[in-house]
Amino acid sequence: MRRPLNPDEFFRYSDMIFSAFADSSLGLISIDREMRCLRANNAAKRLLWPDATMSTESCPLLPDEMQVLRPEVKALFEQQKKHHQCHLKLISAHGDLELNLEFAPLLDAQGAVIAVTAVMLDVTPMMVRELELKKFSNAVENSGSAVLITDARGDIEYANGRFSDITGYNREEISGRNPSFLRSEHTHDTVYQELWRTVLGGRKWRGMLQNKRKNGSIYWALQSISPIHDSNGRIVNIVSVSEDITHLKEHQQQMEQLAFFDPLTNLGNRRNFKQELERVLKAPPKGVSALLLMDLDHFKQINDTLGHDAGDILLQTVASRLKFCTDKSSQVFRLGGDEFTLMLQGYDSVADIERQTQEILELQAQPIRIGPQELMVTVSIGVAIIHVDGQSVSHLLRNADLAMYHSKQKGRNQYALFRQEMNHKARQALVMENNLRQALQQDQFYLVYQPQLDANNGHIRKLEALIRWHHPEEGMIAPDKFIGKAEESGMIIPIGKWVLQEACRAAKRIQDLGLPPLKVAVNLSTRQLDSDLLLETITQALDDAGLQPRWLELEITEGALMKNIEHANKILIELKRMGISLAIDDFGTGYSSLSYLQKMPFDLLKIDRSFLHQVPDNKDNMTITSTIIVMARQLGLEVVAEGVETPAQLQFLQESGCQQVQGFLFEAPKKLDVLLASYRDCQHYCQICYHSRYCELPLRNNRLNLSSPCCS
Ligand SMILES: [Mg+2]
Repeated sequence: MRRPLNPDEFFRYSDMIFSAFADSSLGLISIDREMRCLRANNAAKRLLWPDATMSTESCPLLPDEMQVLRPEVKALFEQQKKHHQCHLKLISAHGDLELNLEFAPLLDAQGAVIAVTAVMLDVTPMMVRELELKKFSNAVENSGSAVLITDARGDIEYANGRFSDITGYNREEISGRNPSFLRSEHTHDTVYQELWRTVLGGRKWRGMLQNKRKNGSIYWALQSISPIHDSNGRIVNIVSVSEDITHLKEHQQQMEQLAFFDPLTNLGNRRNFKQELERVLKAPPKGVSALLLMDLDHFKQINDTLGHDAGDILLQTVASRLKFCTDKSSQVFRLGGDEFTLMLQGYDSVADIERQTQEILELQAQPIRIGPQELMVTVSIGVAIIHVDGQSVSHLLRNADLAMYHSKQKGRNQYALFRQEMNHKARQALVMENNLRQALQQDQFYLVYQPQLDANNGHIRKLEALIRWHHPEEGMIAPDKFIGKAEESGMIIPIGKWVLQEACRAAKRIQDLGLPPLKVAVNLSTRQLDSDLLLETITQALDDAGLQPRWLELEITEGALMKNIEHANKILIELKRMGISLAIDDFGTGYSSLSYLQKMPFDLLKIDRSFLHQVPDNKDNMTITSTIIVMARQLGLEVVAEGVETPAQLQFLQESGCQQVQGFLFEAPKKLDVLLASYRDCQHYCQICYHSRYCELPLRNNRLNLSSPCCS
């Protein structure tokens, strides 16, 4: 049992206690029943009365906030309790103060309480820190980013809620484990190696990882991993903060897909192609690599005939065939429309490239079924050898294009390797195009006309307009030297327009001169027939000349017709509806069947001049010609034979029932004024001598008259 202190002892001990606490950071006070301070050490004075200078004699009241403790102090004085602990917040001008207080009674020798002491600890900094920690912890816990904290070995110490949301793992499952369970085979080992090298080297790592969730699905994480050091610089923790950016990545991939891939075929698009070819060009050559440029033969025709949906299915089929017949190191792109490119890489030789190209041609030529239709589609391919035929995308593409053009010239369903002389030809074509444009601007073209006669009575039935080119330096340039080039370059469109205008004016001029009207026949090219502006051009030419459509005849070669027969038929029906008469030109060269042509609105058929060669010696030609005449007449078509040069040919044609003839036997093509000078006097040719002379006597009958006096 403790012995009570006498007053002297009490004050001595009290002095000893206060002197022991004089320089302590703990505050110490003794208080009386009235909550007045009896003694206070320096720390207590600083805490409770920071403004006042205080002596023990002054017995100040404790601050207001402590007055709430009065009942507790009273209870201690009355020895109802032996001690009391509390936490108080004091507010002062110097800032808020948080104190932990512990009260105990001081007893005198008789065991009566003579004072209560309070030890106070300033916990303000601790509380501030705790609050901050709490805030931080809340922030981490509720963060939108996944936070994972491991110890230095990498074992998980903490994971926030977001981490669980993203990965599907709850905290208990992963606590103490190594986070390697998140790894997926989608992220390369080298990325992890680099990550650990950086973090263990004391630096922060930032990057993207493809991680695996608990359910096995893969997600993209944008991750930042930092080491935490202790005061000695040792790594004590590793903190990973990550965000699930899968949605963003998918969106980005979609955007990339749109930017770099053709949505119809899923092949790389032009931009993708360019990028890939640039990459190949920069890399050191590996074996023989080639750029193949390919397009579908007559694709426009298929699109026009079967519709765009069928065209799309066709393109998809072609694309999947291309993917099928190329190996892993090769790439296929769709540049647009029906234009595809392939990059064949790492072949042993050009011959191997050619073999592969031939395989592609053969596979593409297999029939394609679209609904009830079975289509035969062929392709043309131009091949340029990468690094050899060009060092840039544009150069290679241009050369592959030239080669493709040549393969088309060879007759389609073919391939051609680029050769340097193709460039030369291309340059020549460019020069020719310029010359043609200049010729049109400088009126170097003019028209000549060749009459077509009634085979039986020599009457002039119409004039065929033929273009001629007189070049100021090179003189006359034959039509076969420039018509084909004009067709290839597209210059045939403006030239053809000019011919139509000029010919319509000529027909009108004959009428205006008071002469018996004559039809004028104008030749139409394939390009013109394909042109959307053809009907407008013809209407305009007729209107400008003031000519009725029935005085215009249009000649379309069998070849031009066969290139796009459905489209041509639509145009022809419209022309026919306008009242223009229509002739199939050069018939017999284009392998079309008469019965097929019968369905088209033609009025005339012009037998190709080649069938009159060596007539009457070539019996085959004679048989073909007479068969064509008979069949055409049965189909209600009038027949014209061109290239008639000898009386024997004429006689044969008359006997076979050919209704009209045209050729040098009667007249070479001449300028309109020259022809009209004779036509004014006589509108038919002599049936005996034929040669460019007009009969001076009226015709006696409608048959070949061997005794006509004009030849006597
Ligand atoms: Mg013709």
